[in-house]
Amino acid sequence: MNKITNHLPTAELQALDAAHHMHPFTAGAALAKKGARVMTQGKGVWLTDSEGHKIIDGMAGLWCVNIGYGRSELGVVAARQMEELAYYNTFFQTTHVPAIALAAKLAELAPGDLNHVFFAGSGSEANDTNIRLVRRYWQIKEQPQKRIIIARKNGYHGSTMGGGSLGGMTYIHAHGGKIDGIEHIGQPHWWAEGGEMTPEAFGLMRAQELEAKILELGVENVAAFIGEPIQGAGGVIVPPSTYWPEIQRIVDKYGILLIADEVITGFGRTGNWFGSQTFGIKPHIMTIAKGLSSGYAPIGGSIVCDEIAKTVGEAGDFNHGYTYSGHPVAAAVALENLRILEEEKIIDHVRDVAHPYLAERWNALTDHPMVGEAKLVGLMGSIALTPDKATRAKFAGEEGKVGFRCRERCFANDLIMRHVGDRMIIAPPLVITPAEIDVLMERAWKSLDECYAGLKADGLF
Ligand code: PMP
Repeated sequence: MNKITNHLPTAELQALDAAHHMHPFTAGAALAKKGARVMTQGKGVWLTDSEGHKIIDGMAGLWCVNIGYGRSELGVVAARQMEELAYYNTFFQTTHVPAIALAAKLAELAPGDLNHVFFAGSGSEANDTNIRLVRRYWQIKEQPQKRIIIARKNGYHGSTMGGGSLGGMTYIHAHGGKIDGIEHIGQPHWWAEGGEMTPEAFGLMRAQELEAKILELGVENVAAFIGEPIQGAGGVIVPPSTYWPEIQRIVDKYGILLIADEVITGFGRTGNWFGSQTFGIKPHIMTIAKGLSSGYAPIGGSIVCDEIAKTVGEAGDFNHGYTYSGHPVAAAVALENLRILEEEKIIDHVRDVAHPYLAERWNALTDHPMVGEAKLVGLMGSIALTPDKATRAKFAGEEGKVGFRCRERCFANDLIMRHVGDRMIIAPPLVITPAEIDVLMERAWKSLDECYAGLKADGLF
């Protein structure tokens, strides 16, 4: 076999990919026929593919490349750490400097008394940690029956058995099942489900489903509630302003634990270090991953409050952990990423420059005949595609068909935007400049226009 490098022809790379590589969340046979796009390089907000296209990455990879691609400092740190201590575990009464330094830094950055970090290799693993951690906590508190975790329909918390079960996506449950002790309530998705209600009344109603669920299950059986401050993979669903304050009131009233899944919303995405700060949420545990290392190394974790860490720590062994919990190279890379975010004031850039500049242009998309609503918090945005803005109608036929067509136009125009059903979503690297936002918006308009023209030509609009 030829050595497989960037220099092989695209078709050859695609054929090898099709023959041997199973892709996540992908219909393998259909992709094999079409051929996957082969990405070869990244710099800032730009990707290059094997055909030499310069693509603007409106999704920061999978919502993770917060500092942008191609920061060589992270490679230098990784190489240095690999030479010094490539691996050691943190299981048997040992530790190492990168894990110590990263945990201390996260304790400094995280709000309130979130001062303790349990490391994992990904967001899914961290949420699996959370399931075991909250159940262990209540067991130590002599309430072992308090083990149900309440989550939301159309929430996303990963795709391990635990993470996939916490998530409220039935198409994930359909492939492999769901663990016990997880219950789902409705999501605060006003555009799709709010009917005639105002967003505020609807947000309140959806939050109050938590109270009803706690009472139905019995508070003595409920361990925790988990939610993403803004649902990401569910379609960038920004909850009405009434939602999180009511959720907070309810978890406080019943004394159940609150887990904020900050895998997407953490590390500057919403214009603060954490989405919990943007929405005034006071969680007992935050799930982190993605922007923690800007995707340069696989690492995630749970930032845990004093009370849970103390209780679990004083009760003997917590029988849980991963070979790569606190991996030294990943931890060193994450630390360097946090240094860049902080020293280069990237979160200030999101808040003061990139968000206001993009918001004006993103919101103007509602002038497009197909765009019903536009939402943007920090640099996390969505638009709803609809055939009728006034009634917020869905397109006839299978949901997501129009979103997919629009996504294909974006891809053809060298813009990466994702679709969730018939919502288009963006989450570009946080370092995006106004000039790059202009390019992104120009390509977005062009793609929407082409999609619209295509739908009209096919008699679908
Ligand atoms: N939680 C949330 C909110 C996520 O968006 C994701 C990933 N998209 C996960 C958890 C799972 O993270 P990972 O893919 O790193 O396992």
